[in-house]
Amino acid sequence: MYLCDIHSHTKLSPDSEAELLDTARAAVAAGLSEFCVTDHCDLLDLQGEPVTSFNWPGAMAQYRAVRAELGDALTLRLGLELGSAPYDPAVARDILAQGGEELDFVLGSLHSWIGMEGGRDLSFSNYAGDLALSRRAVESTLDHTWTLVTQCPDCYDSLAHIVYPLRYIHRDGVNLSLADYEDRVRAIFTEVARTDHAMEVNTRRAQDLDCWPPLLRWFKECGGELVTVGADAHRPQDVGKGVPQALDMIREAGFDCVTTFAGRKPVLHKF
Ligand SMILES: [Zn+2]
Ligand SMILES: [Zn+2]
Repeated sequence: MYLCDIHSHTKLSPDSEAELLDTARAAVAAGLSEFCVTDHCDLLDLQGEPVTSFNWPGAMAQYRAVRAELGDALTLRLGLELGSAPYDPAVARDILAQGGEELDFVLGSLHSWIGMEGGRDLSFSNYAGDLALSRRAVESTLDHTWTLVTQCPDCYDSLAHIVYPLRYIHRDGVNLSLADYEDRVRAIFTEVARTDHAMEVNTRRAQDLDCWPPLLRWFKECGGELVTVGADAHRPQDVGKGVPQALDMIREAGFDCVTTFAGRKPVLHKF
């Protein structure tokens, strides 16, 4: 089993204080063969303010230093978690171009209310007792995900955590699931597969595992072949959490490999 975790954050993300050297050492200690740092670049920040740049000098400096420090102990990749690309595709493309040839991997995320609720992060809303707001959060996310996969396919390699709004909807006790939106999710997955992109199984530090088997089944039925895995760690101690279970789920869903990315090209690792 090729143990890989290609979704992880450092102090370059607004919600992490981790040093890349510490997270990469944690990856080695967890027995990972490959690890990718994917700091946040959301085109709408947590409070809904537009963002037009990413700290590439900082990201490249820490990546190069840690790669040199660890040598052959770990395959370390440089990625980016690009949020809300459909909000401003021109800015998204500009930021990605600045990543140059060292950029290995782009996660495509939707964390924000684009054009609603002040553009803030979906996690800030209170969904308790509000099925209408909960539905709007899921429908808005699916709308913008559809725009991402149909109009900005160059702005992502793997579709990150499609369950993102449900994390907070369930936190607030509202009963809603992507099964209520199966046709729309399948349409998205069909487009992801048709354009040779990947979908991500995001373990959320091993807290989100049960939601993935049905989604993996849909993705497979929609022609999907490429699946990436990430623990979405924001602290070194969370690196790799849930990755072995995710790999088992992917295999059990009928996929014959797990995928990582190098130079924004998929690399398939057979089970
Ligand atoms: Zn995310
Ligand atoms: Zn993340």
